[in-house]
Amino acid sequence: MTASPHVVVIGAGTLGLCSALTLVEQGARVTVLEAQSIASGSSGRAVGVVGSQFTDPFEIMLRVHSLRRFRQWESQGLGFNHIGYLRLARTQKQMELFAKSAEIQEEAGLRSRLYRADELRQLIPHISPDGLEGGLFGPDNGFLDPHEMCNFLARMVRAQGGEIRQYRKLLGVKRRSGGYTLETGGDSIDCDVVVNAGGAWAPQVAELFDQRLHIWPERHEAVVVHLDQPLDYTMPMVMDLVNGEGSGLNFRHEKRTELIAEIHKVEQSKVRLAELLLERLPDLPDARLGRGWAGLYPVTADHRPFVGPIDASEPTLVTAAGAGGYGIQLAPVIGQIAADWVLHGAPVSAPGTESLSPSAGRSVALK
Ligand SMILES: Cc1cc2nc3c(=O)[nH]c(=O)nc-3n(C[C@H](O)[C@H](O)[C@H](O)COP(=O)(O)OP(=O)(O)OC[C@H]3O[C@@H](n4cnc5c(N)ncnc54)[C@H](O)[C@@H]3O)c2cc1C
Repeated sequence: MTASPHVVVIGAGTLGLCSALTLVEQGARVTVLEAQSIASGSSGRAVGVVGSQFTDPFEIMLRVHSLRRFRQWESQGLGFNHIGYLRLARTQKQMELFAKSAEIQEEAGLRSRLYRADELRQLIPHISPDGLEGGLFGPDNGFLDPHEMCNFLARMVRAQGGEIRQYRKLLGVKRRSGGYTLETGGDSIDCDVVVNAGGAWAPQVAELFDQRLHIWPERHEAVVVHLDQPLDYTMPMVMDLVNGEGSGLNFRHEKRTELIAEIHKVEQSKVRLAELLLERLPDLPDARLGRGWAGLYPVTADHRPFVGPIDASEPTLVTAAGAGGYGIQLAPVIGQIAADWVLHGAPVSAPGTESLSPSAGRSVALK
């Protein structure tokens, strides 16, 4: 491959734009093809939370890489609300995992602190600690506006010579010596490499290359909680889920008199959301559920993203998709790993991330 290959990235969500930016920064010629408009897929529907309060060292490591990149972008003008992130624990075993997480994060330069159940009201005066052992709080985590993030990334890609073509759906593919000819309805484009960042539609994109990719669209809804009076503190992101255990309820401040709430699990309804909120925030004055919106989590069987070639014998087709409910926070590191596969033939930015390749025996159907 040439030192500066022409790479076409399919999809202008967070994963496609982060991949595109890392590629142009490293000298590739990049064209992004987007079937609709920037952030029109899952990325524009996200709640925008970026956090590192996880217990699995690999998951923490991925977020450490992402957070470094977010810090760089913040210094270049990307808005980021550092409201903090509190993950709740319901068992002593989970508190032990949190203690290890705090150690790992501290080694990586991230602040986090354990709170016992009776200390949680120091952070959130309205929280009910019933059924909780405590929580793990990262004061530097927070949220951003995913639309703003995508438009910021698009500006950076264009400023470095990349091109973003909106309303250009990839419809057909012809393989040719050393690359592909891509049909988009209006025109055709020759390129050396393709990055499939088609989100929940990545399997259909893979099919155009006669390849199979097991990603499922999982519908999730976020709902606004209106408050008649502003709270006299900032509600951090609160998540009731540890390795699949817990209700999945999560909520955070949005505006002075608004929270946003969601259930990070498949089985959900607005009624269930209201019940869970009442249990956890029983004394929130005059709160009522308002409008909501829905979007898709692009989910894989093992709940980890696919980054790399599906077929090792075709390294010029790289997948960057399947980030589930974490495609905002993981996009920066996924973009780096995808660019590594394109330019170096293997991940070099983040250790152990070959395991994210869809060819590593992971592309299996959901049981
Ligand atoms: C309600 C909700 C809340 C969420 N909250 C969070 C959160 O707080 N934090 C977090 O990290 N994640 C969150 N997520 C998950 C996150 O939104 C997704 O993981 C992420 O946006 C996926 O990004 P993507 O770039 O892979 O896909 P997308 O943003 O869907 O981008 C894929 C793009 O590819 C385009 N495309 C598809 N097919 C073609 C084609 N043939 N040709 C050209 N273009 C094509 C689509 O139009 C689309 O724009 C949330 C998701 C939902 C639904």
